Amino acid sequence: MSDIILETRNLHCQYANGTIALQGISIAIKKGKKIALLGTNGAGKSTLLLHLIALLKPTSGNVFFKGKELKYDRTSLATLRSQVGLVFQDPDSQLFAPSVRQEVSFGPINLGLSKKEVKERVFSSLELSGIPHLADKPVHLLSFGQKKLVSIAGVLAMNPELLILDEPTASLDPQNSIEIMHLLNKLNEKGMTVILVTHNVDEAYGWADEIILMKNGLITGQGTPENILSQDQLLAENHLTKPIILEIFNSLQLAGYLTKNLPIPRTKEALLTLIQNNAAVKIH
Ligand code: ADP
Repeated sequence: MSDIILETRNLHCQYANGTIALQGISIAIKKGKKIALLGTNGAGKSTLLLHLIALLKPTSGNVFFKGKELKYDRTSLATLRSQVGLVFQDPDSQLFAPSVRQEVSFGPINLGLSKKEVKERVFSSLELSGIPHLADKPVHLLSFGQKKLVSIAGVLAMNPELLILDEPTASLDPQNSIEIMHLLNKLNEKGMTVILVTHNVDEAYGWADEIILMKNGLITGQGTPENILSQDQLLAENHLTKPIILEIFNSLQLAGYLTKNLPIPRTKEALLTLIQNNAAVKIH
């Protein structure tokens, strides 16, 4: 069986007003991976996401989920959306029920699950998202960060195989951002494929298995974070900056404080360990 969960072939999108948003996107996402889709505003990232969950139909080209081309009739859409979850950037555009419990119950009820199963799904997705204590709170009284977690819990209650998030940490404070990224790691460890859109290179660098770069509706780079985000010219062409950890690591190597053949650090902790164990000159 193929390990590709999601694929697009030569995907084009032209909006009704004539804007060309995608100009031939071909990507193949492996099951169980963490993918960061990076690009500046207007690159076409959100447009691509909307195609992956069939909220938009390609002008031309194809989208495949688990080897089957997407169909756009009601039944096929309902099946797709029980397997692929999308978390919007703004939780207020996703949340509409009066209480958290009602909000998170909505998907499983729509799936036609029994009362008992709905209750179990709600309980486990609130637990997983770290917000069981919010179950009976009115949604409109929650903080932005809490609303974000509720919108993720609502999607998790559908038990999706693939989770797609549009800038999940935008407008969140550092602590909330860390919690969301931990949650995404936890979900991935349980086998879920996760795609997130961001323009935060540091977040993408530390988290992703694979980076996909987009600009002007095209894929401009694809590969490991270490490879893609260390290429100065590629970053400049995509109006992105180098992740701070790589920047410090490269500068220490260039200045001769670290030797050339070291493993490239992905996290602050890994960088600090390298410095402690390998620094050529120690400053007292
Ligand atoms: P990103 O998510 O990378 O910021 P978008 O997918 O939102 O990029 O936008 C890609 C291009 O499509 C931009 O030029 C944007 O202005 C345009 N666009 C996005 N949504 C619409 C829409 N509903 N109608 C017309 N043009 C749109």
